[in-house]
Amino acid sequence: MGRRGVKEYRAHEALQLILADRDREPLTCPSCGNRKIQRTPRRRLPVSAQMDPYRHVTLKCTKCGRQAVYVPRNVTQPSDSQLLTS
Ligand SMILES: [Zn+2]
Repeated sequence: MGRRGVKEYRAHEALQLILADRDREPLTCPSCGNRKIQRTPRRRLPVSAQMDPYRHVTLKCTKCGRQAVYVPRNVTQPSDSQLLTS
């Protein structure tokens, strides 16, 4: 499809996934329903490593390959549109 090789979620799908991650809820791909979402950095890291607010978090579905990227500091409320700037 696209030339870039990286499939991205539609905006509302990305938002759904991002908010689930922010709230520490189980991640499920909004597009294909796959429950294996590859998160970078991993949640298993010490809390201190998780708290870098400037770090990008990448959420990638291991099945359909779609991915969403966000910066935690930009996610302040569900209607925050700044997280969809990519
Ligand atoms: Zn998927």
